[in-house]
Amino acid sequence: MHQIIVLNCGSSSIKFAIMDADSGEASLTGVAENLGNSDARIKYKTGQQSEVMPLPEYAEHKLALASIQALISEQNSAPLAVGHRVVHGGETFTQSVLIDDEVKHALKATFHMAPLHNPAALQGIESAQEAFPDLPHVAVFDTAFFQTMPKHAYLYALPKALYEEHGIRRYGFHGSSHYFVSHEAARYLGKPIEQCNLITAHLGNGCSIAAIRQGQAVDTSLGFTPLEGLVMGTRCGDICPSLPGVLSELLGYNTKRISEMLNRESGLLGISGLSNDCRTLEEAAESGNEDAALALHIFCYRLAKYIGSYMVVTGPLDAIVFTGGIGENSSWIRETVIGMLEHLGHKVDPEKNLAARFGKAGNIAATALPIWVIPTNEEWVIARDALNISKQSN
Ligand code: AMP
Repeated sequence: MHQIIVLNCGSSSIKFAIMDADSGEASLTGVAENLGNSDARIKYKTGQQSEVMPLPEYAEHKLALASIQALISEQNSAPLAVGHRVVHGGETFTQSVLIDDEVKHALKATFHMAPLHNPAALQGIESAQEAFPDLPHVAVFDTAFFQTMPKHAYLYALPKALYEEHGIRRYGFHGSSHYFVSHEAARYLGKPIEQCNLITAHLGNGCSIAAIRQGQAVDTSLGFTPLEGLVMGTRCGDICPSLPGVLSELLGYNTKRISEMLNRESGLLGISGLSNDCRTLEEAAESGNEDAALALHIFCYRLAKYIGSYMVVTGPLDAIVFTGGIGENSSWIRETVIGMLEHLGHKVDPEKNLAARFGKAGNIAATALPIWVIPTNEEWVIARDALNISKQSN
């Protein structure tokens, strides 16, 4: 057993787990939430037992991590390393790294690319280094898996100086998830990953799709930030790039307001006017809510278009993979999306589709091309990388 602490620090939350890097089993999972607010607290789970631990009012990352450290020592576990999820690695980080001063310095240089996420990640790393001073700390980047994308996939058709001077290009996110499910798919297919051409769709509150050719990511739908591409819970995905300017002139919105609208008020929530939650929308659509039905239809239509276009990118496909909260659980979304590809020879088997839900993997295809539902486990990728890199550094 190789236990690893996995941390995912956001601006007001820290998700944490103790995970066995060999089995992917977590003995403790939790989240410190509402940090910086009057109701800061830690919710955690050991086995079937759920607990809530209030934190002092306005507790920040440092205090939360000290309490997480105390919780971890109560578990009688002997963690070997700490793995940190970092959203943006820019072009500097093409793989996970052992965190030292140089790495922290380089991380600061990525702040403008992910202003909401990376400063919080660094704050979390520094607090965690204080809480766990004797353990090696490893950074695992959401963007790293996509650093194999070729230039023609990652460059925008913008003046090249924007890329050369400011790093403006497509980066892709959800890399640990796409990495995990693509390797799982290779295992199910009984082929080395280097021989697999896959399309992996991570559909959760955030959504992304990746084209994987001979085991390497060659395209993905999220771009410079996690806003481009598919319709998401509250994010719009692809829109006409002139729209922010139009909104500013038409409605007098400033950039902050526009960003808030595109990130938090759009997507499934924006179209339906009801919810960003796929379950709620499926139920509402079933009972005749037309806006909910339209939101789900646009979600599926955009996804089917991306799958079609990625078939051009991957070459002969070995499998399509669904993962994430929606991908793993919504048989309706999967059947609708694949139904839009029926003229290309793809079809879902309704019984297999219903069986592959709630944590169960399965090939749901009725036709030749395998369509896999694979529960993702990003924490396991982080735990494995943290273990391997900390071993190399010894
Ligand atoms: P995630 O961000 O991966 O946790 O996924 C969250 C999304 O998964 C939300 O839109 C949920 O509505 C959706 N989801 C979870 N369970 C189901 C389900 N049984 N049917 C449809 N959507 C689901």
